[in-house]
Amino acid sequence: MSKRELPAASNFIRSIIDEDLSQGLNDGRVATRFPPEPNGYLHIGHVKSICLNFGIADDYSGSCNLRFDDTNPDKESPEFVAAIKEDVQWMGFEWKRLCFASDYFEQLYGFAEELISKGKAYVCDLNAGEIRAYRGTLTEPGRDSPYRDRPVEENLDLFRRMRAGEFEDGSRVLRAKIDMASPNINLRDPTLYRIRKGATHHQTGEAWPIYPMYDFTHTLSDALEGITHSLCTLEFEDHRPLYDWFLENIEVPTRPRQYEFGRLNLEYTVLSKRRLTELVSQGIVDGWDDPRMPTIAGIRRRGFPAEALRDFCTRIGVTKSDGMVEMAMLENSVREALDAAAPRAMAVLNPLRVVIDNYPEGKREELVAANHPKDASMGERNLTFTRELYIDRNDFMEQAPNKKYKRLTLGGEVRLRNGYVIRCDEAVRSEAGEITELRCSYDPATLGANPEGRKVKGVIHWVSAEVGVAAEIRLYDRLFNVPIPGADGDWTRDLNPESLVTVQGIVEPFLAQAEPETRFQFEREGYFCVDSRDSTPERPVFNRTITLRDTWEKISQRAD
Ligand code: ATP
Ligand code: MG
Repeated sequence: MSKRELPAASNFIRSIIDEDLSQGLNDGRVATRFPPEPNGYLHIGHVKSICLNFGIADDYSGSCNLRFDDTNPDKESPEFVAAIKEDVQWMGFEWKRLCFASDYFEQLYGFAEELISKGKAYVCDLNAGEIRAYRGTLTEPGRDSPYRDRPVEENLDLFRRMRAGEFEDGSRVLRAKIDMASPNINLRDPTLYRIRKGATHHQTGEAWPIYPMYDFTHTLSDALEGITHSLCTLEFEDHRPLYDWFLENIEVPTRPRQYEFGRLNLEYTVLSKRRLTELVSQGIVDGWDDPRMPTIAGIRRRGFPAEALRDFCTRIGVTKSDGMVEMAMLENSVREALDAAAPRAMAVLNPLRVVIDNYPEGKREELVAANHPKDASMGERNLTFTRELYIDRNDFMEQAPNKKYKRLTLGGEVRLRNGYVIRCDEAVRSEAGEITELRCSYDPATLGANPEGRKVKGVIHWVSAEVGVAAEIRLYDRLFNVPIPGADGDWTRDLNPESLVTVQGIVEPFLAQAEPETRFQFEREGYFCVDSRDSTPERPVFNRTITLRDTWEKISQRAD
């Protein structure tokens, strides 16, 4: 654990575990699991669950399995399986076992036969619409299926024939026999198995024409793996009685317990897999790892460090209610991590050519710059100073607009960061009136020294025009421009049209050689990283991870 990382805060789940341990439950074992369905990429909401499950395993010397909850062959794929594994590893966690619910299909089938044999499950021939109609509502009890009292032998025969592939999709299901009048709809004879012939499953191929349903699979997978604390989000609270019913009515090797915690919801983004899938399939973003996506793959490509995500999860904590978390909280964790860890460099995003007339043509000087103002261990680098350089267009105005303006003006002076003080003598314009070049002069006595007899307050960044490298710089911003997209209808109307602005900049030459995903602070501009997909040393591409300060705070204050 690095110095910055906070110790895990206590929460109600840890209190439960402490209590269980003090009573000697589960022989003092703590076993958790993270159970994604491989039907999409993991997002920042999953990060909360990952940090909770793996974090508990680490802190209690326990174990955490990565289990793919793969009972839906139509929506799942090996691409998603591979991405999820990579994301969990990138977050810095190690699973004890890599499991697939489909590994247990044979055992689950056996558990289903056990329930049938005990008279606790039956094959039902109602179709989906009829099952729904018989189920009743929150205020009305359900009605028994006409197939509810089928004899055990007939149920066993039909279920075996379902497995043998004799029946068509939707013609029959296996249901638990619990209570059609239960106030909890989940207990009104829930479906345990459905027929899905013709589907090819990414793990089991065509071996199974029937697939177990989520609640059944999940509970029994927990029991088979010896999970002690099965942590899930609040919407499963109403499923807990069913979870317990399975464990009470089936001979299981271990007795896990389910506990629910609040989902993470984050402002200025969407976290449902359905919406994220839409963003990708409609081409609104450039794939699951688009740096604007709240997916782990996107966040990583954007340049957020895993450490910042873990820190964020510690800060938001784990509670028994769903909450909306401000994007600024995540961004603050990112800024803090990057401020400490990212070496500084200079990049000019809107280049304006500067010629220093009193600097000898062809001369090159190697100046020295610290890589981090607060961390000498990051060392120093050379900065090449030449007669022609670039500064940012935004750092020049012919006349200062007000007294606070400290950048370069016509006739005014400014210090070039890590270099000399220069004065602007002339702004050269094109025929169209656009400033194309600044003619300047420099004061040779000002390298690392204050100028004689005058004060120069402004410091601006620059890059030598002779050695600087052209780079594509992608300025990413929040994907939505309102805190709760879709609050007034169509969420796609809340997309931020300026979530990506691409500029052609000039960067220090060493930056072009940096490895993909390396992060830097471009001084005065923000934090950037080398794009992992498109960057090459010949044509470097940088992604803006985040600005130096929160520019949205002002906007939301204005809107209030
Ligand atoms: P979605 O509802 O968007 O499809 P999901 O919950 O179905 O997502 P799973 O792959 O089933 O996605 O989730 C794996 C685990 O991650 C589950 O235990 C789930 O509770 C947890 N999880 C998913 N979204 C969040 C969230 N926003 N906050 C906290 N935990 C989450
Ligand atoms: Mg799910």
